[in-house]
Amino acid sequence: MPVQALYALQNGFMGVERSVLFYGDFSGERVQIPVTCWLARTSDGLVLFDTGLAPRAVAGLVKNDPLARFTDDDLLVHRLDTLGIQPKDIDLVVISHLHYDHAGGAHLFPGSELCVQRDEHAYALNPAPFFAPLYYRKNFDLPGYRWKLLDGDTELMPGITALRTDGHTPGHQSLCVELPESGPVILAGDCVYWQEHLDHDRVPGVVWNPTLAFHAIRRLKTLARLVRGRVFPSHDPVFWQTVRQAPDAYR
Ligand SMILES: [Zn+2]
Repeated sequence: MPVQALYALQNGFMGVERSVLFYGDFSGERVQIPVTCWLARTSDGLVLFDTGLAPRAVAGLVKNDPLARFTDDDLLVHRLDTLGIQPKDIDLVVISHLHYDHAGGAHLFPGSELCVQRDEHAYALNPAPFFAPLYYRKNFDLPGYRWKLLDGDTELMPGITALRTDGHTPGHQSLCVELPESGPVILAGDCVYWQEHLDHDRVPGVVWNPTLAFHAIRRLKTLARLVRGRVFPSHDPVFWQTVRQAPDAYR
């Protein structure tokens, strides 16, 4: 099998209201959620999925939030360093979508291919006013960087497939990683915030199109069933406690 290992990279924590996580939930209760990145080691190269938050672009709300945690160890470069990997070693950086907590580290990879859906890239440069606060232009307006713009589902390398999962944003994508022992793992990105979204078809509270978001969750569940795989959510604090953290890996 071309894919050898999948590493979970902890990139800190944010505090958010439940209304941010669950469509139709108007509770002001705040919860702490992890910011997550993943690294796949394959015989064809290193693939990073999502780049987390950038300290230089962290919103004031994150800096002043008692539930936020962003230590030096949480920096993406330090997480990679514990695996003996430098940013220049990464061949492909797949970004689920360009919200600030997923695209924050893109600037670390001037030599890699940055892989995002064409529609997401276009929208991020010209977002509707209601969504503009989530897109930090300096995260992705990176002259000279090598963008690879995708149009829908795409096999990027043997065992590494981008899956289009619109709804949370206009060009969201998830990533299927086919592991030799663990089987296929679908890194959902913000298509699936928590396991509860998967179990009960819950749409994210931050959403561009709730109907498409609902369809995308159903689609990932169907794909996971057909390939006998698992779906890993993006911001689930309970799930995250069960995850093998780098340098441990899924193989
Ligand atoms: Zn998002």
